Amino acid sequence: MIIAIPRETAPGERRVALVAESVKRLVGRKHEVVVESGAGLGAECSDEELHAAGARIEPSTDALYAKAEVLLKIQPPDDAEVERLRPDSVLVSLAYPLANPALARALAKRRVTLLAADMVPRTTLAQMMDVLSSQATIAGYRAVVLAAEALPRLFPMLMTAAGTIPPAKVLVLGAGVAGLQAIATARRLGAVVEAYDVRKVVKEQVESLGARFVNIDIEDAAGSGGYAKELGEEAQRKQAEVLAQHVAKSDAVITTAQIPGRRAPVLLPADMVRRMKSGSVVVDIAAEQGGNCELTRVGERYRTDFGVTIVGERNLPSQLSVHASAMYSRNMEKLLAHVTDKDNVLKLDVSDEIVKGMLITRGGEVVHPAVADVAM
Ligand code: NAD
Repeated sequence: MIIAIPRETAPGERRVALVAESVKRLVGRKHEVVVESGAGLGAECSDEELHAAGARIEPSTDALYAKAEVLLKIQPPDDAEVERLRPDSVLVSLAYPLANPALARALAKRRVTLLAADMVPRTTLAQMMDVLSSQATIAGYRAVVLAAEALPRLFPMLMTAAGTIPPAKVLVLGAGVAGLQAIATARRLGAVVEAYDVRKVVKEQVESLGARFVNIDIEDAAGSGGYAKELGEEAQRKQAEVLAQHVAKSDAVITTAQIPGRRAPVLLPADMVRRMKSGSVVVDIAAEQGGNCELTRVGERYRTDFGVTIVGERNLPSQLSVHASAMYSRNMEKLLAHVTDKDNVLKLDVSDEIVKGMLITRGGEVVHPAVADVAM
């Protein structure tokens, strides 16, 4: 099977879908891997390294797309990339098909088979292929590093001859994959950490990382597959009342709350942020999904006129492109192993839960029922 890796063209994207280690293993399994020249540079992976791992380096984008039987990407293809894709090839990339059904329609029209990397079901077996989880881990870590950098205070408690420095107080809102990694990172830096999530089941995980769980007496909002449900109005009011007190005394607030297929919930309205001390920091990981903080400006880091720095930078995983690519690449390897038979031939069996969840287009049609509904 010919697996092709193009250079990512989205602004600011530094990751690559396969790193040299994975290339080596895939070539060892008798696949051919073709990589566009320069595709790995943003992730410190040179053409020479990829070539040494067994990849063929292709200087022409058009030729690369023309050769691809399976094309592995990170960002959803833009219009020009859709046009380049070979009919009857298979594309694996982030695609957000429920939010962007137009892309699914365009790929179906081009007779491209799409496996959406963001539609991996949340099952134990699928965990190894789950790019949302691997990249959220990176984002959670990065968010804390950004907060520590923007905060004009130390994170750890220090007892020195020049005085005692109290530890920073960090509040993490949303304790899913990114939130738990943010808690662990902030704890490693020595902060005192509190965390809150609408799914009460995470309380134990939060506490096992050495953070305090903020209890709010509202209904549990655990939905299916580990996802959260949207809160009712009264619960939202009560949540805001309690959170306001914790936000006001925090030096840094990291927000990670998301609800699948919906705009991210606003957990930090402007008046809550105004009550934070001057010099405090908010890092909003959900910025691109609409933001958990009302004052977030997507893609920006700025200091408000009342002295709170708000970080709404896009694509935090790309800022740590080496390990983000390594983890994405490992997810891709596991996925390819799952969908190929012992002779390395691609077999997309829709009775398989993982294939069923990810397969969006095939044979010129949008075949995923939920996507087909919105793509009408
Ligand atoms: P996510 O990115 O959808 O959301 C992040 C967090 O925000 C979630 O914990 C959610 O409960 C929380 N949240 C939503 N609304 C909120 C609100 N109003 N206030 C506070 N918090 C709010 O979720 P995620 O990080 O991808 O994962 C959620 C769960 O699913 C985790 O328990 C994770 O372990 C599990 N998971 C399992 C698998 C698997 O088994 N393959 C894969 C991914 C995630």
